[in-house]
Amino acid sequence: MTQTAQMHDAPGGRWPGLVSHERDTNAAEGSAGLILVCEHASNRFAAPWGELGLTEAERQAHIAWDPGALGLARGLAARLGAMLIHAPLSRLIVDCNRAPDHPGAMPARSEVYDIPGNAAIGAQARQDRIAAIYTPFHATLHDAVARQLARGLRPALISVHSFTPVFHGKRRTLEFGVIHDADPTLAQAIVAGADAMTTLRSALNAPYSAADDVTHTLRLHATPYGLPSAMLEVRNDLIATPATQDVMARTLAPVLAHALLESGAQSAPAKAGAR
Ligand SMILES: [Zn+2]
Repeated sequence: MTQTAQMHDAPGGRWPGLVSHERDTNAAEGSAGLILVCEHASNRFAAPWGELGLTEAERQAHIAWDPGALGLARGLAARLGAMLIHAPLSRLIVDCNRAPDHPGAMPARSEVYDIPGNAAIGAQARQDRIAAIYTPFHATLHDAVARQLARGLRPALISVHSFTPVFHGKRRTLEFGVIHDADPTLAQAIVAGADAMTTLRSALNAPYSAADDVTHTLRLHATPYGLPSAMLEVRNDLIATPATQDVMARTLAPVLAHALLESGAQSAPAKAGAR
């Protein structure tokens, strides 16, 4: 059973700023230290930002979100007993997996698309988007991590993404990429597990790597504490429907569970009596 447990209000109340926590309450106790994150979960556009001048087709395209990633993340959270924190609006309004000073945080152009509503945004408008969406998202995540640390647990942090099969006109044969930030241990264990336990064409640090600034969330919340962390990238044509998202979750959940154990990332109490 899934529960949605927390909402945040934006400064001034202009945007309801929903940031969901979800947890499978029937899951095994032992794996509950895993925190799943989905920064590119949504292609929702809302007031006061509107649709940024994008067409319906552009708002459905992969530039606006990671299609299938939220369904996959929910399937993994349910199977692994993980908390799931996902962003409420399109990454084109503000990308929660980019630093506020990164050009991709509110991009004026994404792949081959212009984003008219981001072409000339001023300093105040940028700050407003950060305050309304980015800051509550990361405060929620930091709170979740800090609470587990305070209990003497070492939660693992895994972010769930999807990538487009065709990028700048080139077809990608990769099916499953796993990216790490400073500590490669968990990502390496996941790739090894995927090679051993699935037929997915998998690779480490593909189709991107930390050098492309894609590990912002891991850098903020896992790396400073030395927590096990990884970023999953699944080719979005493999998770286009709820049914295939469920199949992928069923495929990857045992891989993650095994890798968490292998890399010592299971949420064991750090010291006696910590529970
Ligand atoms: Zn993504």
